[in-house]
Amino acid sequence: MPKKTGNDLKLETLASWITKSKSTCAMTGAGASVESGIPDFRGKGGLWSRYDPEEYATIFSFQDDPAKVWKMLAELIETVEGAKPNPGHIALAELESMGMLSGIITQNVDSLHQKAGSKKVIEFHGHCRSLKCDECNKRYTDTHLYKKQFPPKCSCGGVLRPEVIMFDEQIHGSVLLESKELSSSSELMLVIGTSAQVMPAALNPYLTKASGGKIVEINTEETPLTCDADMTIIGKSGEIMPKLLSIIKNRVEL
Ligand code: NAD
Ligand code: ZN
Repeated sequence: MPKKTGNDLKLETLASWITKSKSTCAMTGAGASVESGIPDFRGKGGLWSRYDPEEYATIFSFQDDPAKVWKMLAELIETVEGAKPNPGHIALAELESMGMLSGIITQNVDSLHQKAGSKKVIEFHGHCRSLKCDECNKRYTDTHLYKKQFPPKCSCGGVLRPEVIMFDEQIHGSVLLESKELSSSSELMLVIGTSAQVMPAALNPYLTKASGGKIVEINTEETPLTCDADMTIIGKSGEIMPKLLSIIKNRVEL
């Protein structure tokens, strides 16, 4: 028998926590989609190494120069539409269908949890599936309108934007409320692939903790959350999550 590594032992403990927990949720960040080919903020050669988020991802930069920001948005839409869920997304969807996960709060705008089959997904920072006019609130399902008119415009003349929350923009009230409810009603939160620095998303794990729940972090490196987490597993989400799922499946079948 091969010797068990530190992570194997942690995964055994985590599997017990999940099977005993009355309610477990997950919060995911850009790291959960890195293995699907969507870079996180530090990924080399990716979108964000060419477009500084400070310059391209704030609502003020969009309002000042929409055509400049749309160069980045067009690339983001193409990247997201071409991406496929990785084994980490699939394991989370399976945990939900087994009744072991009550929902996911995601900071990602890539719809990969839904593509993997997850049903309850709270999109904290919105999504790229449609465009919206901030002048008249009209929505457009054709995300490729920018190929006909650049930047794409609404029939009222306003500039369209994907339904993502940009930096310095408010999170929708309904989304804040839903994530607050899920976080504070969970006995356990899996925090996967987030640098735990973007506010207010980074507060969600603390709502679980404040209600007496546990936080388990899965990340390729330590983050500011690590010192408050009940367990940190260092590794890739696409490798750790399927391992966790298979341990849980073995236990459920016993
Ligand atoms: P971040 O880029 O700040 O941090 C990503 C974290 O994931 C890092 O801590 C990194 O160590 C970790 N990581 C990298 N690869 C991993 C892997 N394979 N498995 C597990 N962990 C891994 O991301 P954030 O905390 O989500 O904040 C960035 C913001 O930008 C978010 O608000 C998000 O909306 C947005 N964003 C979204 C996408 C997307 O939709 N896929 C991509 C980039 C940025
Ligand atoms: Zn309009």
